[in-house]
Amino acid sequence: MIPFVDLRAAHAEVADEILQGFDRVLRDTAFVQGPDVAAFEEEFAQFSGVPHCVGVGNGTDAIELALRAAGVPAGSEVVLPANTFVATAEAVVRAGLRPVLADCDDHLLLDPAAAAAAVGPDTSAVIPVHLYGQQAAMGALYELAERRGLVVMEDAAQSQGSAQEGRPPVGLASTSFYPGKNIGAYGEAGAVLTGSAELARAVRLLSSHGSEVKYRHETLGFNSRLDTLQAVVLRAKLKRLADWNEARRAAADRYGKLLSGIAGVRLPATAPGNLHVWHLYVIRVPERDKVLAGLQEAGVQAQIHYPVPVHLQPAFRDLGHGPGDFPVAEAAAGEILSLPMHPHLTAGQQEQVAETLDEVLRRL
Ligand SMILES: *Cc1c(COP(=O)(O)O)cnc(C)c1O
Repeated sequence: MIPFVDLRAAHAEVADEILQGFDRVLRDTAFVQGPDVAAFEEEFAQFSGVPHCVGVGNGTDAIELALRAAGVPAGSEVVLPANTFVATAEAVVRAGLRPVLADCDDHLLLDPAAAAAAVGPDTSAVIPVHLYGQQAAMGALYELAERRGLVVMEDAAQSQGSAQEGRPPVGLASTSFYPGKNIGAYGEAGAVLTGSAELARAVRLLSSHGSEVKYRHETLGFNSRLDTLQAVVLRAKLKRLADWNEARRAAADRYGKLLSGIAGVRLPATAPGNLHVWHLYVIRVPERDKVLAGLQEAGVQAQIHYPVPVHLQPAFRDLGHGPGDFPVAEAAAGEILSLPMHPHLTAGQQEQVAETLDEVLRRL
């Protein structure tokens, strides 16, 4: 059996440090807003090269709170890619805004030209999603945002530690520490990153009942804070994140070599200038559902991210879209296949994945 992720192997590396940290929190009963939260926020901001980090309850809340903090007008439109995890669109609606979907480019990232075409007089923001671990074309998207006066809110849930040459500095970004992400908590957690002290303060206010001073509530807020025990986990894992991302890159290189000779397999590519962190290794194959079933039968835990684009989800039928509206995203949804990818994947396991895939494709 080759698992899709291996959270046990990751835990083994950090277990001692985490148990010591938990013990400290339990002894101090610092469950909410304990000192580990502020320490992690500072350390993650530094790791990300962004001045401010505010820990929140999860990555979906991070998107909603970031949009609210940015003060985009209620009811205005937000452009985002059709192929993303549903949370991106969900958070937009929850923030009282209207999602407007746009198609993706060859890397399955928001296509700047499609995004430009989706911008109208009521558009207030754009959400590039750094899907699979590499950044969307941020130069072009910032240029569009500047031209049309839009807020840029990056959904960086899958891209902790990624980079892009020559891109403008992060103004506002959300991330998720869902357990399976490149840096995962042991429960729910997320964060907002921003270059603006004012936005950071606004997110913090919203995340904690609209209050900075106990029992004084400046604004209607939420209860969405980073849990102290999760901060302990994240501090321990952050120390390994650069190495773990490097191990993912090495695994991606190995897959590239192992799979390049297999007929029918289209390999994922890194866009020029991107430092990829390979949250997911997504190939494209013909008759994907059969291939997936064949792999699973042989014990290779492949998955699909994501089988149904946002515009074809029942929850978003009100947007009025149908098949054919976003052809690049739809074609991808029928062919994409995420192979096992995590920092502890061995060369032997990857050889087995490649052999099994080759066999399954020959049998089609
Ligand atoms: C995981 C994820 C989210 C949501 O994060 P949660 O912490 O699960 O709420 C949002 N967007 C993308 C692209 C994600 O992968």
